[in-house]
Amino acid sequence: MNVDDYRAEAETFLTALDREYYEHFAGRKDDFEIEAIYERHAGLFSREAIDGLRDSGSSTLLKFAAEGYVEQGVKELSGQFARLEASLEVDLDGETIPYRQAAVIQANERDPERRRALEHARNELLDARLNPLLREMFDRGRGLVRELGWPSVRAMTEELSGIDLAALGRQTEAFLAATEADYEATVEPRLRAELDIGFDRLARADLMAFFRAPSLDGLFPEERLLPTFDATLAGLGLQNGSPGNVIVDAEPRPKKSPRAFCAPVRVPEEVYLVLTRIGGREDYETLMHEAGHAEHFSHVDPSLPVEYRYLGDNSVTEGFAFLFQHLTEDPAWLERRLGIADPGPVVEQARASKLVFLRRYCAKIAYELELQGDGEIEGLDELYARRLSEAVHVDWPKASWLSDVDPFFYVAAYLRAWALETHLRRELRERFGELWFEEAGAGEVLRELWSTGQRERADELLRRLTGAELDFSALLD
Ligand SMILES: [Zn+2]
Repeated sequence: MNVDDYRAEAETFLTALDREYYEHFAGRKDDFEIEAIYERHAGLFSREAIDGLRDSGSSTLLKFAAEGYVEQGVKELSGQFARLEASLEVDLDGETIPYRQAAVIQANERDPERRRALEHARNELLDARLNPLLREMFDRGRGLVRELGWPSVRAMTEELSGIDLAALGRQTEAFLAATEADYEATVEPRLRAELDIGFDRLARADLMAFFRAPSLDGLFPEERLLPTFDATLAGLGLQNGSPGNVIVDAEPRPKKSPRAFCAPVRVPEEVYLVLTRIGGREDYETLMHEAGHAEHFSHVDPSLPVEYRYLGDNSVTEGFAFLFQHLTEDPAWLERRLGIADPGPVVEQARASKLVFLRRYCAKIAYELELQGDGEIEGLDELYARRLSEAVHVDWPKASWLSDVDPFFYVAAYLRAWALETHLRRELRERFGELWFEEAGAGEVLRELWSTGQRERADELLRRLTGAELDFSALLD
């Protein structure tokens, strides 16, 4: 096969897919016709293409093709799933709430009893209506991976990504053990401040309301959101994107997604940063996270092949996203950019929320290593509930054992990105001081790193930058 022809078609496909995603979730069009895009480019994911790529030496392209093969094979089921999920309604004391909106409503619900009732109703629907389809998708996906010659998703991901998932699993186990003793003491003061409850009464139903932290809303005014973002880029000597490449879509539309997102439609020339304002600290966090992706993609060297501009190790782009996101909990940034004189509660809230998240993700990868291995999956819903309950210290329901799974170990990208971000931030502080975000030199370092796209894995990029090994235990500091 001609690999350059394959690259050109892959780029056309990725651009079409991201444009469809952008237009639908920005509320610009109702339809979401990704099935047609897959059909138009079915050749990218054929057995023939996959076998051709096996000899090409590009494991990144082979990974793209193999994952696409699996997604193609389950696309009718995923379409069926999306339509069913969109049609479901939760019944709460005679009031009907669309299933997909129930989580947002739950996050903003002040009454703990109503939060629990909503969560219970959501889990019942998930278990009765959605899990049978998810189970069918899981089994079919596993069968397709075996058709391609790998015993499991785990084996396929390890081979094609070059990431040692077992080693990451050992590092995250060590993190869980090391943070166990202080976990409740770190989180409890903020739990009491936001929800007026402690771990003795905490339920999973309360977690999203906890992350929402409404008591901090006043410190993060809506009208300062975009100016703060612009000032942060200016401080680093950056325009928004390499000139003109990032298009900020902040216009309100009725059907716009309630979550901000970044759509790299053409890398690096056309990257959308889509914002929706809900209010408070989470808007700032989300904007900065997505901005980290947008700056990364918009600064990639246009002469790199498609696999290093769009594909590769997503721990890299997520690492830059976490670096920008982390500014919203940096006392110096909070003081300089938002004039917050006492950043203590913000810093404590961010630290507490992050610890809950990290421990949850550590438990998730331990569970996913089992689920996506080659063993029997009967009874793994019990393992899921037990691992998550032990990590987060709440009674975690079994119902989300299949819905709470990221495709092809994206969980590992987040975990590795948190580690990469910790190293990057430490390096920028050492070289440019506490106010590194006001130094053009720091912007210069980032620009150079961004230009390489995802040519290197996160561990390779870190080794080149500082000589350090990427290890999750960096988070313990
Ligand atoms: Zn991200």
